[in-house]
Parts: sequence; structure tokens; C-alpha cells
Amino acid sequence: MFRTARTSRTSRATGAPPRRPRRTTLTALCAVLLALLALVTGCGKPGSPPTKGPAADRLPEYAVARNFSLPDSPTWRRAKKRGHFTVGVKEDQPYLGERDPATGAYAGFDIEIARMMSASLGLPPERIRFRTIASANRETALQNGQIDYYVGTYTINDNRKKLVGFAGPYYMAGQSLLVRADENDIHGPQDLAGKRVCSAAGSTPYQRIKDDYPKAVLVSYDTYSVCVDNLLTYQVDAVTTDDAILIGYAAKAPDDLKVVGRPFSQEPYGIGVPRDDDALRFALDDALAAREKNGDWKRAYEATLGLSGVPAPTPPAIDRYPAT
Ligand code: GLU
Repeated sequence: MFRTARTSRTSRATGAPPRRPRRTTLTALCAVLLALLALVTGCGKPGSPPTKGPAADRLPEYAVARNFSLPDSPTWRRAKKRGHFTVGVKEDQPYLGERDPATGAYAGFDIEIARMMSASLGLPPERIRFRTIASANRETALQNGQIDYYVGTYTINDNRKKLVGFAGPYYMAGQSLLVRADENDIHGPQDLAGKRVCSAAGSTPYQRIKDDYPKAVLVSYDTYSVCVDNLLTYQVDAVTTDDAILIGYAAKAPDDLKVVGRPFSQEPYGIGVPRDDDALRFALDDALAAREKNGDWKRAYEATLGLSGVPAPTPPAIDRYPAT
């Protein structure tokens, strides 16, 4: 899971050069190497069963709306003509948006939201073309028409609303911290002074550490999985982003990683759409409300993000803000 992003060509680090590993005994190094090997091969401890991800045969099927039409939406008209939606997502976030490198198939809660939205807008979800788009590139991808909509742990906020539109929210996350299982000094953001903290470029958690915890030594990459690699190899001391994302990484490597402290922000997840396409935004708001009501939202959650151990919450109220 963490391997995909390690090969990312565009990854970049900022801040001071990597510090040398703190634990230098042979045993400790062996433990790290074994942990990495286990992650790369997708196995847990020797003899333990592999951690379960979303099972394709247990995912809900979403009824495709018949005779649906949204002539006021230029995005919908284009998609209808080509016969499918192109949807921006993440590919390295367990239980949310994860791409199987062997098959190329995407799975997770965000993927299910993308699929049920396509069905509500009258296009079969199987036809969606998913495109991996990193946090820093979401607005541009929507602005230049590379994607029709985006579903990938995308926090709704006023700055972003100047550039794109948001349907939803469909889930409420909160910023948190991931550390190595043997870390005893970091319990919350107040303990980050002088610590190397990794987050994704262009994300709200990165910005919050920069603004509110300036004594932390910030490191950024395109993706969180590269941050997690850096955590496991003692290049950084913590990874920060939404709890929903971090819980997924910790659930896949429970012997090596843990989430600490309480969430210290609110991150309402929205579906990103081109800013001027209010018709699409309102149709997605309606679709989300309907899927929450008919149980599809809960079924999707339980078949994906729920596997990380957190029971289905009540979805947040949809904010159908006025046409722009
Ligand atoms: N939800 C936060 C954001 O939109 C962090 C997760 C992400 O980078 O996708 O910036």
C-alpha cells in the first residue's frame, strides 16, 4: 500500500535534511525492515491473516436513475455524450480511495460515493473512469475539465469555494496525528515543537500546522503514503492529516503505527465540482440526500471505511449553499 506512492515521480520534501535513525541497534533495524517487507508484500506478522480491505462482492449495487436529464449542467451534458463520468480520486488511502496495483481497480468509501453519484445522475457506475489526483492538484483538475467531479477526502472551505463548487458534505473528519507505535512523546499537536511532521502539499492539515504550530518542522510530499514510508523509516516523527485517513494506515499496520490524541479540526468532506456548474452541485446534493435516506450511504460506509473499526456515524447536514 505504501509502495505505490514511494515511486511517485513528483514527490518533494521541504525542510531540513533527513535525520539519522534514532534506534540503531541491529534488532531495531531488523524490526523496521521486517515491518516494511510486510507492508510491501501486503502481509501482517508471520502467521497472521492479511488485513481485509473492501471486498468487491460485498459492495452495494446502486440503482441507475432512468430517464435522468440535467440539461443545465455543461459537465453532465459532456459526460452523457461520452457515456461516462471521469472522476478524480485518491489511490493510496486505505478504506477511502485505494487502487489495486495488480488490477488497477479502485476501492473505498470515496469510490462508493463516486459510484452512487454516477448512478443517481443516470450513468452506470461501472463506466466511471477514475483518475488519481493529488491534494494540491484538485482545483486545477476541476478548473481545466480534466475531471467531472472529485471525491477524495476533500475538505469544504471558503478559500477553495472561490475556485470550485462543493456538494455535501457527506462525511465529517478531523485532523489527527499518526506516530510509530513506540513513540511516547507525541500526544497531540502541542507536542510537535522541534518534531518533523509530514503532510500532503496543498492540504488543510499542512496549512494548519504551518499557521498554528510554527515550531513543528514541516515536511511535505504529494501523498500521505510517502509520509507514512518516511515515518516507518524514522525520517519523520509524525504524519498529520484527517483521522479517517490515518486510521486506515494504522489499521493496516497495527504493530507499527498508532493514531494519537483527539481530532483538532473539522474537515467536512465534499464532492468537488466545476465552480460555475451549480446545476451539477444541486443534483449531487439531492443525490446524496436520497442515498442517505435509502440506506445506500450506510451500506457503502459499512462495506469500506467501517472495516477500519469505526461504526457508521450520522452523516453531516448537507449545505446547499445558494447559486454563485
Ligand atoms: N481533508 C483534507 C484536505 O482536503 C486533508 C486530506 C487530503 O489532503 O485530501 O486538504
